[in-house]
Amino acid sequence: MPNAKQGMRLDLRTLILVLCALTALVMLCASYFASYRVQRQLLIDHALEANRVYAAKLAAITETYIRNALQQLAFSAGVQRQQLADSAALRAETDRVLGQSMAFNSTFVIDANGVLLSVSPAHLRHLVGGRMQSPGVEEALHERRPLVSTPYVSAANNLVVTLSQPIFGADGRYLGYVAGSLYLHERNILNSLLGEHFYKDGSYLYVVDSQRRLLYHPNPQRVGTVVQSNSLINQLGTLRNGTRQLSNSQGVEMLAGFATVPSAGWGVVAQQPLTRTLTPLGDLILNVVGTSAPLALVGFLLLWWLALIIAQPLWQLAAGARTMDSPETAEHLRRVPAWYFEAAELKRALLFGLNLLQERIGRLNRDAQTDPLTGLVNRRGLEFSLALLQAEGRSFSAIVLDIDHFKRVNDNHGHEVGDQVLRRLAELMRSCCREGDLLCRTGGEEFLMLLPGAGLEVAANVAERLRLTVQDTPVEPVGAVTVSLGVARWDAKGGNEPADALGAADRALYQAKQQGRNRVVHA
Ligand code: GH3
Ligand code: MG
Ligand code: MG
Repeated sequence: MPNAKQGMRLDLRTLILVLCALTALVMLCASYFASYRVQRQLLIDHALEANRVYAAKLAAITETYIRNALQQLAFSAGVQRQQLADSAALRAETDRVLGQSMAFNSTFVIDANGVLLSVSPAHLRHLVGGRMQSPGVEEALHERRPLVSTPYVSAANNLVVTLSQPIFGADGRYLGYVAGSLYLHERNILNSLLGEHFYKDGSYLYVVDSQRRLLYHPNPQRVGTVVQSNSLINQLGTLRNGTRQLSNSQGVEMLAGFATVPSAGWGVVAQQPLTRTLTPLGDLILNVVGTSAPLALVGFLLLWWLALIIAQPLWQLAAGARTMDSPETAEHLRRVPAWYFEAAELKRALLFGLNLLQERIGRLNRDAQTDPLTGLVNRRGLEFSLALLQAEGRSFSAIVLDIDHFKRVNDNHGHEVGDQVLRRLAELMRSCCREGDLLCRTGGEEFLMLLPGAGLEVAANVAERLRLTVQDTPVEPVGAVTVSLGVARWDAKGGNEPADALGAADRALYQAKQQGRNRVVHA
């Protein structure tokens, strides 16, 4: 039985299991974390790239629009050149350009001095003949080339961007320009192109010109304002397209893709909040956990099973070590499947130790039950044999004998010679009995023979034979000694104790002594 202290100790099997469980847990957590990081980066990369592609596409569309619009104006400039003096023809042409497509909110012609020669739509005609002094007009007159202006407030008080083509006479003289305007605060081709936004994930886009002024923004209030301190916008002039992770004007983390419109120097930025991008992450991780959990469970069960197999031999060896005194232990130990080095070594050592122990114990037992002088069984051995006979229910006869006047032998010849007489008597007793009889020295010069299965008569005969043998066998230098013997029988079915029979034999011996010694008396 394990004592309390052993009972409180963890066994190897539990330790291995705990170790396995811990390892599995750490590995699982590590892989979930890695998976979280990878998925997060994938989502971010994907969002950045999607925004870049979207911005690039819209920039390309805007570029196409600008080229197209400049082309229309170039054609119109060719027409108007011929008819600068004909106000009706000029008006017809500006009407045509305005009406032909949705490219412009207004179209007009200005001469080299900045005087408005013609304008469409009709409600602006009251301005014709006036000298225009807005920054956009001055820029166009100064540059004298195909131009996309920066936003400015027009004579009609609109925030506009103007696309213009110069008019040169046949002699190469600069005559003015034809232009089309986009009203940034009204519905125009730009916000028609960009405003229809297909993503519903919190993403939006905006357009800035090369001066960082907003040309388009989902919040109309911001159109026309200058974007301050935005690392992306600061660099737009030098980049064609790309991606950035940045904070917007509200301090929200954004994933932005951007592209430039080369002919106008504008930048298109498409962006979406990081938090919205990462919304699916929770579901993705749950999915990963859900997929891997059954596998992890199977793995853990497998580990459990292996732990059992590894711990089993040591557990069995430990159980054997705890019950070294039990007779079945050797057999149990021999059957332990010690399939790996340490278990095999322990098993070998335990079996070796057990052998040694049992041999020692056997020898000690034998020694403890043997009388050293005569080699006969002593009183302890006798008790053991009596208990065995009683347990087996075997009847026996007992002969008790005592040397006559042994004191005199000692007195006359010394103790040494007395011992020799005792040894000699033991030999004679051996010669007179059968195998299976038990010979015992119960006291100094008192002996006992147990004859299992023998009846009283047989025992009396054996006693008589022994008496004669002793009497007829002189021991030098003492000469002949004699013994007195008492015989009794114990019947297994008699209902009394074996000790009772020995008592009876003792009393018979006493009688033999009384009756003159050197004789056999039976109870
Ligand atoms: P009785 O015929 O009445 O038996 O006479 P006895 O002299 O044998 O009487 P008693 O039983 O009184 O004496 C036994 C003696 O045996 C006493 C003791 O000195 C001697 N003795 C007992 N044990 C040993 C022993 O181991 N060795 C020797 N040498 N003598 C022993
Ligand atoms: Mg005696
Ligand atoms: Mg005696």
